[in-house]
Order: sequence, then structure tokens, then C-alpha cells
Amino acid sequence: MSLGPGDVDYLAPKAQAALEAAQVVVGYQTYVDFIAPLLTHQQVMATGMKAEIKRCQAAIDLARQGKRVALVSGGDAGIYGMAGLVLEICAAQGLKVGHLDSNRKMDLSLEVIPGIPALAAGAARLGAPLMHDFAAISLSDLLTPWEVIQRRVEAAAQADFVIVLYNPKSKKRDWQLKAVVEVLLCHRSPQTPVGLVSRAMRPGEEVTFSTLEELPAQRVDMQTIIIVGNSQTFQYNGYLITPRGYLGKYQAPDQGGAS
Ligand code: SAH
Repeated sequence: MSLGPGDVDYLAPKAQAALEAAQVVVGYQTYVDFIAPLLTHQQVMATGMKAEIKRCQAAIDLARQGKRVALVSGGDAGIYGMAGLVLEICAAQGLKVGHLDSNRKMDLSLEVIPGIPALAAGAARLGAPLMHDFAAISLSDLLTPWEVIQRRVEAAAQADFVIVLYNPKSKKRDWQLKAVVEVLLCHRSPQTPVGLVSRAMRPGEEVTFSTLEELPAQRVDMQTIIIVGNSQTFQYNGYLITPRGYLGKYQAPDQGGAS
């Protein structure tokens, strides 16, 4: 299930109810910490990073033993999150999974509860940069070959998509962002507006506006999402705006709102 960006105010009521009903909560320590006030009676199994398979397997095993388990994932569980891995493991092990209300005989029942992903949280902080077609690309080459990432960046840049960069940089992965900016500069103006949001809806939130040529890589870390505008994106009064096309097609209301 999904925890949203961090602040419990952005946690869906459905997700809150699932946490409340859970007997065991399994998750990455940082995310478990975000929901600490809600963990009043559940058993908690928190693990470190890179323990993803262990975490999912533990959640599956506990569920098969009859426990109500909440496997928590930051943002949306279905976007670079845990939902896919759980289902992949079930598929690899040939387990029969289905919804709680399904009539089929199952090894375990499972529901994916959605949440606010970082791209929506970040976009909200920046204004309205995702009003037209966009592509989300993770720069983490731990599981995806760099050539594939680079090809996708190139294709998205060529097609004038707004581009959302997930996992832009970590302590060990520090050169990828610069390489991506170089690819983008081959297809887009150096003045293209870029928005950076670190720790959206979490303590220590930072919002930065920049341009492609001046993108401040030193402000980027593991908890940053970057949104690169398309050829139409502009900045106005501290908001990043990608026009949808309304004002080109229909007349804008007069100033003052009278019509
Ligand atoms: N499932 C998550 C994404 C997990 S991948 C989601 O739906 O958002 C982890 C990456 O997401 C981070 O490296 C960062 O790029 C981004 N991210 C997650 N939460 C964020 C937040 N609160 N603020 C900014 N970026 C965030």
C-alpha cells in the first residue's frame, strides 16, 4: 500500500484504514518512521534499503500464515514501488493471488492501494508543469542498463515530452544527471525551465527553479525529483506552467473576470 510523499495529511483515507486494520506493517525504515504516529498496535518489521526482495517475501509469508499485512511503499506503490515486486514474486512462485472479495480459492489475497506519487507532489509544489504529455524516467542504473536509460531520455527529449527524472542522484551515482542534461541540451533550449523539489511534503522540503543549462546538481540528492519543461513551459510568479493549449484555442477571460 502507498504512503504518499511523507506527510500523513497526504495519506489517502483508504490507506489509513488499511494501516489501522493491519496486524503487521512491513517497510523500509524511513517510510515506517513517517507513519510512526499511526503505528499504535501493529507489529512492525522495518528493514534497510536494498532489502526489497526480503521485505516482499516476508510480507507474502506472513500473509500466507493468515496475518493481515500492510507492505508500505513511499509515494505510489505502483510507481517504482513495491507492488510490482510482490506480484512478480507471486508469479515466479506460481501463487494464486486475488482480491479479498474474489470467489476463487487463493494462496493469498492482495489489494494495491494507490497514493500520491512524487511526480504529483513535486508538480504541485512547482505549479502546473505536467499539464501536457510527460515521460517519467528513473536515472537509477542499478537494475536498468545505462544505455536503455539514455535511449529513453533521448526519445522523450526528441518528442518534446515534459520529463520527470526520478532517482536523479545518490552518493554512489553522481555522474548520470550531468550526462542526461547533456543529452537534453542536444534537443532543448538551454533556457528550458527546470523545477527541482527535494523532500516534497516532508520535513526539510526545498523547491528550486532553474534552467537546463544552470541546473544546480549540488542541490540534488536521493530525495529530489526533477521536472524538465517542454518547449512551451514557462515560469510565472514562482510557478512553472506548461500550457495545455486552451488559451491558444479559446479566448482568455478579460482581466477582472467580467464576461
Ligand atoms: N513510489 C515512489 C517512487 C520511489 S523511487 C513514488 O511514487 O513517488 C524513489 C525516488 O522518488 C527518489 O529518488 C526521488 O527521486 C523520488 N521521491 C520520492 N519521494 C519524494 C519526495 N517526497 N520528494 C521528492 N522526490 C521524491
